[in-house]
Amino acid sequence: MTSPAPPSPVWHPFTQHALIPDATLVKSGEGAWLQTEKGRLLDGISSWWVITHGHRHPKIIEAIKKQADELDQVIFAGFTHQPAEDVARALLEIVPSGLSHVFYSDSGSTSVEVALKMALGFWKNTGHTRTRIIALEHAYHGDTVGTMSAGARGVFTNAYTPLLFDVVRLPFPAPGREQEMLEQLRGAAKGAAALIVEPLILGSGGMLIYSPDVLRDMAAICRDTGTLLIADECMTGFGRTGTLFACGQAEVSPDILCLAKGLSGGSLPLAATLCGAEIFQAHYSTDRSRTFFHSSSFTANPIACAAARANLQVWREEPVRERVKALAERQEERLARFRDDKRFSGVRRLGTITALDLKVSDPGYLANVALQLSRFFQERGLLLRPLGNTIYVLPPYCVTAAELDLVYDAVLEAAGKFA
Ligand SMILES: *Cc1c(COP(=O)(O)O)cnc(C)c1O
Repeated sequence: MTSPAPPSPVWHPFTQHALIPDATLVKSGEGAWLQTEKGRLLDGISSWWVITHGHRHPKIIEAIKKQADELDQVIFAGFTHQPAEDVARALLEIVPSGLSHVFYSDSGSTSVEVALKMALGFWKNTGHTRTRIIALEHAYHGDTVGTMSAGARGVFTNAYTPLLFDVVRLPFPAPGREQEMLEQLRGAAKGAAALIVEPLILGSGGMLIYSPDVLRDMAAICRDTGTLLIADECMTGFGRTGTLFACGQAEVSPDILCLAKGLSGGSLPLAATLCGAEIFQAHYSTDRSRTFFHSSSFTANPIACAAARANLQVWREEPVRERVKALAERQEERLARFRDDKRFSGVRRLGTITALDLKVSDPGYLANVALQLSRFFQERGLLLRPLGNTIYVLPPYCVTAAELDLVYDAVLEAAGKFA
């Protein structure tokens, strides 16, 4: 007789262990699929929004293997390496104009911390006292103390509130409330350090979409008041919204751009914060007190950078834009049957992302139905992880029409069971 395995010592992120005692053991991944110990799962959320082309894209995996044979890790202060140099140059060719410097880190949260510190450092080093940060209601920018401060407050942040810094909070520009938000921004922007936004779609806030016109107007107010615009494209970057970057749809050039998740195709942790020459120049001096004081041990890890270099090559050499466009169309087709379904509200799509709200008695992130839905989908071979009662589909670009049918058939079935 074998004795039962002792409980796992692993503490999982955003997981209430009393409700989810056992994590699913994943053995391998390929394309849009994960192989678990219990069977296959279609990855309908790109493994938490990171996987772009599909799991284990051959060119990215090949690059990782090759780099691992040459250089694993090296200090990045005073040293550099070819993968980091190549990725920085390649990024500057595809990001909105005006950005000229690339600061690496290793997660989206860190890329946002770096952005906030760049903004504050810029104003300090140019002799101004502009420290106020402006952010949107329902925003999400990460889970570190600084990024939580910029993000929406709620059940996620309650325990930490005493340590969070104040920001000016603008109403979310839902249809009909755009002018109200812009008016408040006009008032708040004078003398502020920066406005931080997730361009066009607020991810963790519930896949809330707003128009490129609003983003363009926000950018114009920033330009008029000198307030720096930080675009957090950690989630929206690399094709999710239908264009390479969401800012592109509004023809907006942010002062600071945060990239993470899809930067390496989702294969390895890597992030980058890009800024323009003015911000770099404000820190450029023989006076060492003006140094940009930020680093993490694994800044620009060579293997992660090699993966990102391969990812950028995939974007150049493969018809990724066509794939994104085709996926967006397939997603729109599949939403059609839900548009008049009274059990749903807010049926919406931006690029390759769709979302719909299941009508329940306790809507919101803590809606009881969230866990039930996750379980229900997993039993049907699908990895979907609703945000409360908001079901969203954010698949890797290799997903096929037949695979999407599996997803939406299950969503329809779920409505029959839980609405
Ligand atoms: C995921 C995300 C982050 C945080 O990225 P991590 O790599 O999880 O730290 C920040 N901003 C946005 C908009 C995100 O979607």
